[in-house]
Amino acid sequence: MPHKQLRFAVIGAGMAGILAAIRLKARGETFTVFEKTAKIGGTWRENRYPGLTCDVPSHAYTYTFEPYAEWRANYATGPEIQTYFEHVVDKYGIDPAIRFGSEVTALDWDEAQAQWTLTLASGERQVFDVVIAASGVLHHPRMPEIAGLDSFAGPVFHTARWDDSAPIDGVRVGLVGCGSTGVQIVTALASRVKKLVHFQRSPQWIMPVPYFTFSDAERDAFRADTGLIDAIRFGDEYLGNVRRFTDAITDIDGPLMKAIEEYCLQNLENSVRDPMLKEKLRPDYRAACKRLIYSWSFYDAVQNPAVEVETGRIDRVEAKGVRMTDGTLHELDTLVLATGFHADRFIRPAGVTGRNGLTLDAFWARRPTAHYAMTLPGFPNFFMLNGPTGPVGNFSLIDIAERQWDYIDQLIDVLRQGKGRAVVPTTAAHADYEERRIAAAKTTIFGSGCSSWYLDAEGVPASWPWSYDKFVETMSAPKLDEFAIS
Ligand code: NAP
Repeated sequence: MPHKQLRFAVIGAGMAGILAAIRLKARGETFTVFEKTAKIGGTWRENRYPGLTCDVPSHAYTYTFEPYAEWRANYATGPEIQTYFEHVVDKYGIDPAIRFGSEVTALDWDEAQAQWTLTLASGERQVFDVVIAASGVLHHPRMPEIAGLDSFAGPVFHTARWDDSAPIDGVRVGLVGCGSTGVQIVTALASRVKKLVHFQRSPQWIMPVPYFTFSDAERDAFRADTGLIDAIRFGDEYLGNVRRFTDAITDIDGPLMKAIEEYCLQNLENSVRDPMLKEKLRPDYRAACKRLIYSWSFYDAVQNPAVEVETGRIDRVEAKGVRMTDGTLHELDTLVLATGFHADRFIRPAGVTGRNGLTLDAFWARRPTAHYAMTLPGFPNFFMLNGPTGPVGNFSLIDIAERQWDYIDQLIDVLRQGKGRAVVPTTAAHADYEERRIAAAKTTIFGSGCSSWYLDAEGVPASWPWSYDKFVETMSAPKLDEFAIS
């Protein structure tokens, strides 16, 4: 079989970019990873807030080809995960292929040459046959539209821009936001602060999960026999939970969703003692409508006398603190904004221009979309990992990215084998996918009536709306008749 040597650009050195680099290196491909910062790690590099943990079980949050005996507990901390990715980059010798401090600002498709021109912030240009966009999802902090933020006398910052110099211990801290991030920060700060005012616009359902550490002896055993790790990460407890979760969110009146709701309700009823606090913490929407929060310690932390849950409406921020619409002033020393991310950016603000001058902004004017979350009509030889409409929820995005890579790699084979110089999904195939996806997505729990970053501008969940097994099957082989090969 003839093999065409292709030039690959991988954008981003986070979890997905590292994966792409390892896979490309293993095949002897020519590639460069462009990383805008000075360090690998993506979301695990950027987020350094106290309490940062991954609520996907640690052994499941690893590459399939690189099990890790060193996890200290069944849920890993952010710094541990960063260390894992640094270990992987080192072990697989990826570092020399990464260009740090290299922000990609533009990608322009040249139809005549069937190649992409990549432009860096420095103005430097390079050409590539294939672009792998591994630039992540949650990396543009969303600042809240609260008047007077600039007038606060103390430090005020977004959780993804943690200010290490800001006072925390023994002082009065305000925390806006009650997503996965805000909840983890409450658990970490409750015992450190003089006072923590947690501004909760919408409370969250909390799924109780066990937390346990691995002993030195267990880690020794994992090192000696990685089969013990495989039994955890590929075993029924984890994968069974993934299957049950996706079945629940796609069958919202079925018994599995009812079980999730009951777990969360009983957790609230049985864990929170003060009836007034219990009502403040009781959501008015269905469990798992927003990203379900798995926590073993939030309800304990939030009942710490140092924590005050404020469910009133914020009027403005003043020099001394946060003023509520009822006139109350919460005097604060530090203000933390756990207000989430612009989840519709993906590779943007880089300007991507495909065939016939079609820009990504224009293609995504209504909503970000990609054919099975990876390829886009009008953008040949352009592949996204963890792109729009992929699976979101409480499971490992590493698994998702690996399966997406297997699909993408088969499309790249078309180019490698010289069957064509450009591969791109047809407009008709993508329109059919989107029509089916949107219809199904509206019926998932994410579309059951709450606000969340899962929803696009029209309120449609921007997610994979079918089962995990259907995702696995779909990723196993692309349907080549859905693609134009030229
Ligand atoms: P998020 O889920 O989008 O939550 C943002 C929070 O800020 C919400 O509580 C929101 O309230 C609140 N908010 C926004 N603007 C506000 C305003 N003007 N006034 C008051 N409250 C405001 O963001 P996130 O917590 O950073 O989490 C984002 C995602 O990151 C998660 O869903 C998850 O996918 C990922 N994550 C994962 C982990 C993990 O353990 N695996 C940990 C952290 C994050 P409303 O709900 O009322 O809008």
